[in-house]
Amino acid sequence: MLKVTKFGGSSMADAGQYRKIRDIIQGDRGRRVVVVSAAGKREASDHKITDLLYLCYAHTQYGVDCDRIFEMITSRYLAIRDELGLKVDLETEFADLKKRLDAKAISQDALVSRGEYFSAKLMAAFLGFQFVDATEWVRFRFDGSVDQEASYALLKQCMKVKGVVTPGFYGLLPDGTIRTFSRGGSDITGALAAAALDADVYENWTDVSGILMADPRIVDDPMVIPQVTYDELRELSYSGAQVLHEGTIFPVREKNIPLNIRNTNDPAAPGTMIRERFNRDSDPNRFITGITGKKDFTIVHLSKRGMSNEVGVLRKVLSVMERHNISVDYAPNGIDSVSVVVPSEAIAPCLYTVLAEIQRDVRPDTLDVHDEIAVVAAVGRKMASRPGISGKIFAALGQADINIRMINQGPDELNIIIGVENRDFNTAIRVLYDSFAK
Ligand code: ASP
Repeated sequence: MLKVTKFGGSSMADAGQYRKIRDIIQGDRGRRVVVVSAAGKREASDHKITDLLYLCYAHTQYGVDCDRIFEMITSRYLAIRDELGLKVDLETEFADLKKRLDAKAISQDALVSRGEYFSAKLMAAFLGFQFVDATEWVRFRFDGSVDQEASYALLKQCMKVKGVVTPGFYGLLPDGTIRTFSRGGSDITGALAAAALDADVYENWTDVSGILMADPRIVDDPMVIPQVTYDELRELSYSGAQVLHEGTIFPVREKNIPLNIRNTNDPAAPGTMIRERFNRDSDPNRFITGITGKKDFTIVHLSKRGMSNEVGVLRKVLSVMERHNISVDYAPNGIDSVSVVVPSEAIAPCLYTVLAEIQRDVRPDTLDVHDEIAVVAAVGRKMASRPGISGKIFAALGQADINIRMINQGPDELNIIIGVENRDFNTAIRVLYDSFAK
């Protein structure tokens, strides 16, 4: 059994968190590969080391001294080292780094990668595992994509030892320089390591006990989703939920490796398990996996008598949107009418031109615009086999006096999308959560 574990910034924030990680790693012999983030925030007002590193870089570019910020970075790592009683020489590395920074002899990517690097150095010493630098195995192409084949082969070669710690977030370009992923990219490193080693599971350790059924800023104490498929996860994140970045998922999904979101501060909680499909359902009576949504959409609605017999109307409307580079999220239609639902931000700068072009190309009988629309999505793989879900959704929203402006169900029956007024957004999410989660 091999488990690849990745610990995010808040899990790496101080010595106390390192101790929790050691207990987690020692609690399961399968946990032999550890991918770490830079130290994150210890509390809400704290700073992430990665942010401070970006700040240092910006200061030096403008010729402004960054000693104070640099000291904030180094003192965090020194405090962790000393509190854990580790013998790692960080001082020499810090001095060398500062010299390169002052001389403007370091790239932004190389500098910001140091957060993960120092985290991994300390964690390897603390766990008694081998430190394997990300530069030894993560290989980018010049276009920024990852050369999976080369990276996987290199990591496999490093796995001759009992346990390894490797930094997340960066790797090497073909010219030997350091390149980072986009922010939050240590998740991708973890997924690549899991895929490279054909791990049994990729454990992504963070500070919540899994993916929540609804946004906790809207719903009080929402339940954790115990099982979610990759397709559902994509629906949830597309519709607004803050879940894992797409890049995180593809290496493990490609190899059918389950991804388990876990909480470093509550290791007994099983978290959320993400996989292609589930043979055993942990919760057969729950038909909705999650409820999410986004605000600020605009609906352009047009009707034309006889539209159903006219060829190409929808294409003409979509072509107008395409010409203006507006991506259409939904296009529900009736016999003689069609609506397109687009992000307000995208259409606002060219709204009148778009309307004029639709008028010219389609000659509708009516053409109107509704903005301040929010989209609420109920997502669930089990909806397809279950009559009455949409009835329940509409009844619940009706009882709460919420006017529904649009209804759309994806052809794979994985979601039901409802358009409501922006001002009804939070209530709609709460009402749906209350009727499906309990
Ligand atoms: N430290 C990096 C960031 O803050 C990468 C990560 O933590 O995943 O974005």
